[in-house]
Amino acid sequence: MKYLFKISAALLLGTLSFQKIDAQKIQKVNGKNSVNPYYSRTDTKILKVSNANWKKVLNENLYAVSRLNNTEMAFTGKYNNFDGLGTYYCAACGNALFKSDAKFASTCGWPSFFETIRPQSVIFKRDDSYNMKRTEVLCGRCDARLGHVFDDGPKPTRKRFCMNSISLEFEPLNKSQK
Ligand code: FE
Repeated sequence: MKYLFKISAALLLGTLSFQKIDAQKIQKVNGKNSVNPYYSRTDTKILKVSNANWKKVLNENLYAVSRLNNTEMAFTGKYNNFDGLGTYYCAACGNALFKSDAKFASTCGWPSFFETIRPQSVIFKRDDSYNMKRTEVLCGRCDARLGHVFDDGPKPTRKRFCMNSISLEFEPLNKSQK
């Protein structure tokens, strides 16, 4: 009886802990499932994680964009032509970045937003690469590179946060409200 109780408790705990891990926390890295221990929708503590450690938990494409400054091809990202209602989180760490009501139909080929959820959702960094003067946008919690911001967006901010889809993780409204 005692053992039965222990086995039931272990199974229940196993189920509960599995349910806490959502799809974004588990990614295929070098062909194996890897849990991302830095991912949280509630913890806003700033992360200082080395690229070597990010490489162990992010899939190859997300690692290349978020840590090595790669950019996905225009018009290829999953959120470019997408108008679902909900919230966009950092795909690397779970930090809340944008609401869908700040997304607008931009012709640039990448998902575009006119404002972030909070001013500290992102941080900015000067980017002089390719002989251009641009402002890079990084996640305010984990420093992941998200894209760039330009001053040609719509009212009220006139900003255009031009993002890589792969750096974002969308959650529909009804689910994020629970
Ligand atoms: Fe992040």
